[in-house]
Amino acid sequence: MTVYFDNAATTPLDPEVLDAMLPFMREHYGNPSSIHGHGRQVRAAIENARKTIAHLINAAPAEISFTSGGTEADNYAAFGSIRTLGLKHAITSPLEHHAVLHTLQALEKAGDIQLSYLRHDEQGRLDLVHLEVLLATNPRTFVSLMHANNEIGNLNDIAAIGEICARYDAVFHTDTVQTMGHYRHDVQQLKNHFLVGSAHKFHGPKGVGFLYRRSGLMIDALLHGGSQERNQRAGTENVYGIVGLAKALEIAYRGMSEHQQHIQGLKDRFIDKLQQQIEGVEFNGTSAQADQSLYTVLNVSLPPSELNEMLLFNLDINHVSVSGGSACTSGANAGSHVLTALGCDPDRGAIRFSMSKYNTTEEVDYAVEQLAKMYRKVAV
Ligand code: PLP
Repeated sequence: MTVYFDNAATTPLDPEVLDAMLPFMREHYGNPSSIHGHGRQVRAAIENARKTIAHLINAAPAEISFTSGGTEADNYAAFGSIRTLGLKHAITSPLEHHAVLHTLQALEKAGDIQLSYLRHDEQGRLDLVHLEVLLATNPRTFVSLMHANNEIGNLNDIAAIGEICARYDAVFHTDTVQTMGHYRHDVQQLKNHFLVGSAHKFHGPKGVGFLYRRSGLMIDALLHGGSQERNQRAGTENVYGIVGLAKALEIAYRGMSEHQQHIQGLKDRFIDKLQQQIEGVEFNGTSAQADQSLYTVLNVSLPPSELNEMLLFNLDINHVSVSGGSACTSGANAGSHVLTALGCDPDRGAIRFSMSKYNTTEEVDYAVEQLAKMYRKVAV
């Protein structure tokens, strides 16, 4: 059996998405900026994709800008807001993805901002009282706090954070890369200025995504050149990627509750089986608490063992693909900045299982069995 449990890294393409993209690789090759028929046909496909995405998140089409993925969207929101609006302070958390952390650190290094880090507890739950304290002394701040953590799956209450940010007139960006296509986002119910989508996290193609930017908030482009995306993002559009992105989000919304139920069932099974078969197993962050974590991610903390260095390798040779790594390893394998921030035990191993609609209960049983086998070998 070959098993893929690394869906937070990327997901397999849905065949229906590929079918939607193929005509734009084969027949519809016009440049969308061309005014002739070949171009107009492709332009129409891009605008339809924009409308589809806007409709699904309850936004206006003009609020959607296509990007090369989540990283570019995070950079665009941060650089655009901070530089255009002259914001001098930003708040984030040490648990953010590097697409946000390194971007804000680059802006700090360039002298644009002073950067503050929000406090959190040992399970990675953010301290929203600290957020208020920071905002009270620094109004008109850029705040970037993710919806779900890609490593430990913790869900942040972005509705509550948005209310706090609104009280202090802060610009609020949320990296929703791990939740777009997995939860229903309604921008009318949120106070966010920005949200992000990356197609390859919900069975779409790699290298394409979007930034939702609330209307009225004008920011400068990140990429300069042609006048594509209403001067917001220069460069000939990734047409088939954009078509695939919209199709993938449409499919995700169509089957969302059914898939959520299926995947949560797999996660519950993982938790049960791991607890039955591996003594001393624990879960990092709020991973094992269904109401506080992304249903696609389970971050497992394994008891101290000489095997922990080789966990991913040993699973890989048994055809199980996962992500992980110990938090406190050194040298070439610098470990996880998220687990390090949680104050990990350097002797414990860590594995992230991340699931999709394509995984099965048999695959869960197989993966747990492979892992348990290793620990049983050590125990005898
Ligand atoms: N933000 C989060 C939370 C992610 O998990 C990822 C990808 O793993 C990114 C940003 C980057 O997205 P992309 O791969 O589309 O650049």
